[in-house]
Amino acid sequence: ALKYLNISTATEQSRHSDPPPPPPARVPNLIGGSFVNSQSSDLIDVINPATQQVVSQIPLTKNEEFKAAVSAAKQAFPSWRNTPITTRQRVMLKLQQLIRRDMDKLAMNITIEQGKTLKDAQGDVFRGLEVVEHACGMASLQMGEFSSNVSHGIDTYSIREPLGVCAGICPFNFPAMIPLWMFPVAVTSGNTFVLKPSEKDPGASMILAELAMEAGLPSGVLNVVHGTNDIVNAICDDEDIKAISFVGSNTAGMHIYARASAKGKRVQSNMGAKNHGIVMPDASPDATLNALVAAGFGAAGQRCMALSTVLLLLIICLWCSRENELVKRAKSLKVNAGTEPDADLGPVISKQAKERVCRLIQSGVESGARLLLDGRDIVVPGYEQGNFVGPTILSGVTEDMECYKEEIFGPVLLCMQADSLETAINIANRNKYGNGAAIFTSSGVAARKFQADIEAGQVGINVPIPVPLPFFSFTGSKASFAGDLNFYGKAGVNFYTQIKTVTQQWKDLAGGSGVSLAMPTS
Ligand code: NAD
Repeated sequence: ALKYLNISTATEQSRHSDPPPPPPARVPNLIGGSFVNSQSSDLIDVINPATQQVVSQIPLTKNEEFKAAVSAAKQAFPSWRNTPITTRQRVMLKLQQLIRRDMDKLAMNITIEQGKTLKDAQGDVFRGLEVVEHACGMASLQMGEFSSNVSHGIDTYSIREPLGVCAGICPFNFPAMIPLWMFPVAVTSGNTFVLKPSEKDPGASMILAELAMEAGLPSGVLNVVHGTNDIVNAICDDEDIKAISFVGSNTAGMHIYARASAKGKRVQSNMGAKNHGIVMPDASPDATLNALVAAGFGAAGQRCMALSTVLLLLIICLWCSRENELVKRAKSLKVNAGTEPDADLGPVISKQAKERVCRLIQSGVESGARLLLDGRDIVVPGYEQGNFVGPTILSGVTEDMECYKEEIFGPVLLCMQADSLETAINIANRNKYGNGAAIFTSSGVAARKFQADIEAGQVGINVPIPVPLPFFSFTGSKASFAGDLNFYGKAGVNFYTQIKTVTQQWKDLAGGSGVSLAMPTS
């Protein structure tokens, strides 16, 4: 098997060393069990966001190559769906072992291509690994139901069957976790798969695909193709693809949802976010401040569950003075390349992302927010070309400001004030997104009211980033999700399977009761 990226080369690149970098590796497609270079001459650079060095290049895969990937998946489907579920599970058991073995390699690749710190990159892999572990129990997860003797000699049962070829379209911010939300559940339940990684950081997907092959996934069960809008549209339009899992921005997600649904496909689309944290006056100060700083600035704010907006309750103006405390803690964070051991946060993904983050900060300032901490002009020694933005805090933010309405997706924490829990919940509920929300309090009454009234899919009570483990589902709501079956958990299995209901009659049919044309009843 092809060994995807020369990681040691990539590591050297990140060290800002002087020798000229080697020519960038071409990222192959995986079609029918073979890693093959695309014939396309249209290439996109995969850029290390801490150094601007080109790590590799992805092709804009040609349509005939994409068709070959779908065709390989379609051919592999009949025998894979008939492979015993225990055998399919064993491939996942092996895969989880291989992911553990190659954890450091995966994490290093993520840090080089995406920018997050190595420790955070390990978390990225680990949260995906948990989905692989969960898929190892597919025989139970996929069980149907059985009702005995629904009429004389008649039983009814349901079977959860795979759909056929499914596809996944990934964002840049969790290069390992999100592909692992998708293909392990899809293939273990008997489907075959075509994965399109983010064009910004395809490396982790490629390593995972190699590991899946090493784990024994037969040729054609998992295929990987690269590209951007054209290949995504081809996925939406292809008649042989039955379901699409998408994670990314609202622009792409709503387009994919509409286009693929119109072709009769199932779509699950996880999209953007603006997650609110409500801090009650009775919240534990130290733990809450630490939680806000970690959830606001971790991964440079590039998590769909980042806590980007804090609502401080003014009932007792205790927390207002603590804005300064927040600034103090945020200031102490170390911004550096993710490969450096002391880094708390790394760069944002691209120059364009940095420009956008800085523009939204400036728009906040111009519309009257107070800039308590400004990370825009940060220069990281040794990584002067990196797309770094330091922790930034805007206070006095109001609902009409662009920085509040837009998802910033950078290390920027917005502080707002509310005079009651009710007001705070109403503010959060008026926001179009509904991915996650958290409350910090020592009052069970407040927590219970928040849990009942907040319009968000994932609710944290003294938990800043309430991403559920895989036996539950990842449940965004409002503009953060389109579809009706969420990722992983029971809903994830339901998404990748359809129900067949069987009614069987086994009784002595001798001397039957003649012909009846009436609708049968029991
Ligand atoms: P993105 O939408 O730019 O890209 C995601 C994928 O869609 C990529 O594979 C890309 O090639 C493709 N794509 C982009 N624009 C397209 C278009 N116009 N037509 C067809 N395909 C297109 O998203 P991103 O910048 O990679 O990721 C960040 C976004 O993802 C944020 O909004 C973040 O909140 C969201 N996100 C959501 C979740 C969640 O579970 N809700 C998780 C992670 C990230």
